[in-house]
Amino acid sequence: MTIATYDAAVTIAKPFHTDSLANSPYARELQGGVSHLRFAEPLETQYIQERLSDSRVLIRLACMLSALIAFLRAAEKVFAGTGDLWSLTDLGFVTVISIALAGLAWGPQYQRVYMSWARILVPARNSVVAFQVAAAAAHGQLEMLMVLPIMLFGPFFFLGLRYRAALVCSVLTVLAYVISASAWNMPLSVATRSYAFLLIGLIAFMVAGRHLEKSSRLAFLKGRLIATLAQHDSLTGAKNRRVFDEHLSSLWRRAAEEHRGIAVLLIDIDYFKVYNDCYGHQAGDRTLRQVAHAIGSLVCSPTDVLARYGGEEFAAVLYDADIRDARQMAEKMRSAVAELNINHHGSGVERFVTISVGVAAVCPNLSRSPGGALQLADEALYEAKVSGRNRVEIRDEREHDMVVTGVFGGCPQPRSARA
Ligand code: GH3
Ligand code: MG
Ligand code: MG
Repeated sequence: MTIATYDAAVTIAKPFHTDSLANSPYARELQGGVSHLRFAEPLETQYIQERLSDSRVLIRLACMLSALIAFLRAAEKVFAGTGDLWSLTDLGFVTVISIALAGLAWGPQYQRVYMSWARILVPARNSVVAFQVAAAAAHGQLEMLMVLPIMLFGPFFFLGLRYRAALVCSVLTVLAYVISASAWNMPLSVATRSYAFLLIGLIAFMVAGRHLEKSSRLAFLKGRLIATLAQHDSLTGAKNRRVFDEHLSSLWRRAAEEHRGIAVLLIDIDYFKVYNDCYGHQAGDRTLRQVAHAIGSLVCSPTDVLARYGGEEFAAVLYDADIRDARQMAEKMRSAVAELNINHHGSGVERFVTISVGVAAVCPNLSRSPGGALQLADEALYEAKVSGRNRVEIRDEREHDMVVTGVFGGCPQPRSARA
C-alpha cells in the first residue's frame, strides 16, 4: 500500500469510533493494505460477485470478438485455399470455445458457473492459438507474432480482471508456445524474437494486471466504506435517519402487500438536557453510545432496523410484529437501558439514565403512508413522558384509523380492499 493510499484509507476510516464501524471489514482491509490481492471472507466472495457482474459486458464482448476473429480467419483460409485440416480444426475449436464462453456469460447461471469453466476453457483456447501462431511464425508469417501480446493480456479480461488466474493462463500460454515452437523447428532468429516478445509482454502484464486488480479492490473497499458512512450515524454507529425512512417506506409497502403488521418505536432518553448540563457534553456523548449499543443489540432480525432519529432520540421498525411483540421489544429496551446503571444522581431529577418508548403497532395499507404510524408513536412517546417517563406507551390500529397524517386524499382504495 502506498503512503498516499494508506493516508486516504485512514482519513476515511477515522470517524469510526464506535464498535460497529471500527470493526468495519472494509476499513480493516484498507488499513491492512490490499497487497495480497485477497480479502478475508465473506468480503472476498462479495468482491468477486461484484467484479463478475461489473465485467459481464466486457466478457461477453471479448468472447464474441474472439469467436468472430477465429471464424473470419477460418473463412479466409477456406476461400484462399490455404486451410489444411489441422489449422481449420484448431480455428473451429477456438470458435466453439469462444461461443461456449459467450453462452455462459449470457446464461442465467453466469455468476455461479462462468469462472470455473473459464479457468479451464481460456487456457485451453490460448494453448491452441499459441500452437497456431508458432506454426505460422515457423513458416515465415511473422506478422502473426503480433497476436502474442493479445494472448497474454486477453485472459485478464476473459477472467473478470482476476490477476492470479490470468497469470496462470498467460504462463501456460507461453509454455504452449515454447513447446509448439520446438515442435515446428522454428528458426532460431524467429524463436529468439518471439521469446523476447513473450517475455516483455509477460512482464508488462504482471505489472499492469496486478496494478489494475489492486486499484479495482481499493475502489471496491472505498465504495463500500463510503456507502457504510452514508448510512450510519458517526457518533453512535447506529443507522441514520435516512436509512430508517427508506427502510420504513419499503417495509410499509411489503407489509401492505403481504398483510403483515408493523411496529414503529420512538425511543427518547429522559431528562437528557439536564444530564448534559450536569455531567458535560462528552459524558452525554458516551451515554448516547452506550444506550445505542444496548438497544441496538436487541434488534437482531434482518428485516428490523434501529436508527438514531435525531438528538437523543432513536427509532426502530419491526416487521411482522403485533402489539405483543412490540410491547415485549420496547420493555426489553427500557430494561436494558435501566440496567446500564448510568449515574444521573447529580442532576437531582433521576437516579439513573432511563428511556421512554412510544410504540405504534399498525397494519399498513397502500392508501396510507408511514407518516401516520410515526405520528401515533410520537403521541405514545408524549404520553409516556407526561405519565412519568421510564415507561412504554402503546397505540394500536384503532387509534391509527383516527390519525389523518399519511392518508392519501382521493386515492383509490387498494385492490385488496375493493375485492
Ligand atoms: P425529556 O425527558 O422530556 O426527553 O427531556 P430531555 O431533556 O431529554 O429533552 P430535551 O429535548 O429538552 O433535550 C434533549 C437534549 O439532548 C438537548 C441536547 O443537549 C441533547 N443532545 C442532543 N444531541 C446530542 C448529542 O449528540 N450529544 C449530546 N451530548 N447531547 C445531545
Ligand atoms: Mg429526551
Ligand atoms: Mg427528545
